[in-house]
Amino acid sequence: MKKTRKTIQKELIFETVRQMKNHPTAEQLCQEIQKRHPTISKATVYRNLRQLSKIGKIKHIEMPDSADRFDHFTDNHYHIKCNICERVFDVDMPYFDKIAEMIKDNKGFKIETHDLVFKGVCRDCKKDKK
Ligand SMILES: [Zn+2]
Ligand SMILES: [Zn+2]
Repeated sequence: MKKTRKTIQKELIFETVRQMKNHPTAEQLCQEIQKRHPTISKATVYRNLRQLSKIGKIKHIEMPDSADRFDHFTDNHYHIKCNICERVFDVDMPYFDKIAEMIKDNKGFKIETHDLVFKGVCRDCKKDKK
């Protein structure tokens, strides 16, 4: 089967998320992709990121007070964000499937998932401060 240009672009964008491994923002992904493929527009990157998240190939992480991130690791997991350099890391702890049961009044919601973002200062930034 011959691949369409759209498929090739989507694969390229997916590969870039996979390779960057560091929870890039859409903006960082655009910059990385445009280094090698200057003809791919920002709109194309954003559109494909949305589509890839929707089909579950990548994870869209909503960040409370900064740009959203994208993750190649799609299992449920938590994140920690550095308040200084704004880098985002995975947190090594089990996912609390049962956390929803602790909600006393869920207002009739059927709860499906939850996100948790810890905030702090990473090892590198802690070093710089001293
Ligand atoms: Zn940091
Ligand atoms: Zn992650």
